[in-house]
Amino acid sequence: MNKTPELLPCPFCGSTATLYHTNDNHHSPFVVCDGAIRTDGQPPCYVQIQPWRYKTDEEAIAAWNRRAKPASD
Ligand SMILES: [Zn+2]
Repeated sequence: MNKTPELLPCPFCGSTATLYHTNDNHHSPFVVCDGAIRTDGQPPCYVQIQPWRYKTDEEAIAAWNRRAKPASD
């Protein structure tokens, strides 16, 4: 279980992203762009992978990374 893939930077603002889990019984993984909380005066970025759609950390991270890829593919 230590093969958790790395999260790619946010495709929209370039911030790092963080994997969270819901506080309910499902402990569902989701990914949120760290740009939601900005200290540099830039507009916040609310890109995220919604919770309850993926069962495992790997699935949520893979979904985020697919989204983070350039639109060229
Ligand atoms: Zn972002």
